[in-house]
Amino acid sequence: MNPAYTEKLRPIIVFSAVGLGLFAASLIIWPLWINRIAPQLLGAATESGGAGSQNLIVFGCIIGLTCLNLVTLMLPEASTIEDSMAQIAEKITEPGSMAMGIEREVSANLDRIIALLKSHSEISRIYSASLENAGRNLIEVTSPEQLRVAIGYLITENNKMRKETNDLQSNLNESHLQIENLRENLEVAEETGMRDPLTSLWNRRAFDHMLELQVEAAIKDNTPVCLILADVDHFKKINDSFGHLIGDEILKLVASTISKSAKGRDFAARFGGEEFALILPQTPLETAQKRAMQIKHQLETQKWFVSKRNEPVGTVTASFGVSQLQLGESKDAFIGRADSKLYEAKIAGRNRVAS
Ligand code: GH3
Ligand code: MG
Ligand code: MG
Repeated sequence: MNPAYTEKLRPIIVFSAVGLGLFAASLIIWPLWINRIAPQLLGAATESGGAGSQNLIVFGCIIGLTCLNLVTLMLPEASTIEDSMAQIAEKITEPGSMAMGIEREVSANLDRIIALLKSHSEISRIYSASLENAGRNLIEVTSPEQLRVAIGYLITENNKMRKETNDLQSNLNESHLQIENLRENLEVAEETGMRDPLTSLWNRRAFDHMLELQVEAAIKDNTPVCLILADVDHFKKINDSFGHLIGDEILKLVASTISKSAKGRDFAARFGGEEFALILPQTPLETAQKRAMQIKHQLETQKWFVSKRNEPVGTVTASFGVSQLQLGESKDAFIGRADSKLYEAKIAGRNRVAS
């Protein structure tokens, strides 16, 4: 489920669970209270008339305290912390997470959160033990005075625990804020470090990192993964005829065509110079060939104009090499096979797909 929804539903779920629990507990405890505990504790009062209301007040106190304790124990926003940790862990494995300094800070923050949770879990354990003890004492109570002492003890313990929980909550909030800031910094670092400045596609470094992840995932999940390498045909001629700046604009347009064809998990990158790469996770070779054919078709049928001067450039085509990861193949061999297919497409006359 979407973590945002989980977060919104959490108080309702906790409230309903506590309510239901209390209702169920009342059904069991009330007869016990009426028939066994109350006559022993409040025997005198029962006989002297104020039995009903006194019974109800003391019973209500115990149930109320139990409720308070339950809610107090549930106070730390576990799902928020887990979500945030999961997101950070995801960030760390993302291709844009090369900003090592930020990674270290995030990691230090996670260590701090883990230490806080560990210490809170220890305190909770001690608290549960003392509650259990208090519960046993409560059953052995034989006079209102003893009951007052037992309830006083519960209130003190409960206040201690509430303070602990509040401290934990504010520490976690602080860590959460720091992580949020780091995440924003990380995104900025990613944008500058992992993007190609000319085309805004992912750069070679991001590509290498992502291909490694996708190869690992394909092996683990036993799913196909394909790679398309594309190289603009006779690009040198375009530069020579129209100049490097126009060449740049053409590269941006080619990149945008390839990027628009990337859907879902697909990953489009500038491989280098006038070469582009498209990683297609969970895609068999046949589908990847079709995708390369589509891009080839889009490029060759596009009317190429250079923006400012609106000058026609003529036809721009590209050649494509497609490969599917083979069993036991390394990432480099996988790229190598797509590259040799690309070379075949060039030799065969360009503006074609080889696989
Ligand atoms: P082929 O069909 O065999 O691929 O021929 P080609 O001319 O495209 O290949 P070649 O490798 O001879 O030339 C690639 C050219 O791409 C040379 C290089 O100056 C140009 N190039 C590489 N990066 C850029 C860039 O960022 N901007 C521009 N304008 N040109 C670039
Ligand atoms: Mg080239
Ligand atoms: Mg070329």
